[in-house]
Amino acid sequence: MTVLDRGATPGAPAETGVRDSGLAVAAGPAAQPRPGVLLDRDGTIIVDHGYVGSIDRVEFIDGSAAAIAAFNRAGIPVAVVTNQAGVARGRYGIQDVSLVHKFIAARLADHGAHVDMFAFCPYHPDGVVEAFARSSEDRKPRPGMARAAAEALNLDLSASWVIGDRPEDIGLAEAIGAEAAYLGPGGFDRPGVHSFPSLAAAAPFILERIAA
Ligand SMILES: [Mg+2]
Repeated sequence: MTVLDRGATPGAPAETGVRDSGLAVAAGPAAQPRPGVLLDRDGTIIVDHGYVGSIDRVEFIDGSAAAIAAFNRAGIPVAVVTNQAGVARGRYGIQDVSLVHKFIAARLADHGAHVDMFAFCPYHPDGVVEAFARSSEDRKPRPGMARAAAEALNLDLSASWVIGDRPEDIGLAEAIGAEAAYLGPGGFDRPGVHSFPSLAAAAPFILERIAA
């Protein structure tokens, strides 16, 4: 399940998506698919403190909200696609993930920024919570969440960007034929992968490339 809160029933371990609320899908079915930005969450927007399942552990990375606001101003759809194995591992529940996303959305709004869709994958094959202890097409680097975002937001994935701080984010970009931006101090040594120290540093480059 891609958990994509969109007014669906959170908590129901269904095969189909649960979507984080607040999504406005503006594009009609006839509209031309457009480039979007698929953002990792932990280590990209907020500090990766490890299994962030409550709002008291949410700490924004400097400049990430402003970067998202810049994508918003350019009219580029922004989706968060995040592996949340903490659910499968029993660290926190689906509702906790949704609360964290609502909190992130509220803090982003303080900066004039918004995320068009939050998608998360609660599954992990080594999970201890039976309902979530399995592999999933949604778990990055598998493409399920990105494909759900493409459907919901009318994205052209081949013209879109995946931005994240882990090999599975780069793997997702490869799986869907998108551009890849790796965030981290050391860079990512693979042809075609663009490396930046932060989302704030990546945003101007990506904005320019999408506009070109
Ligand atoms: Mg990450």
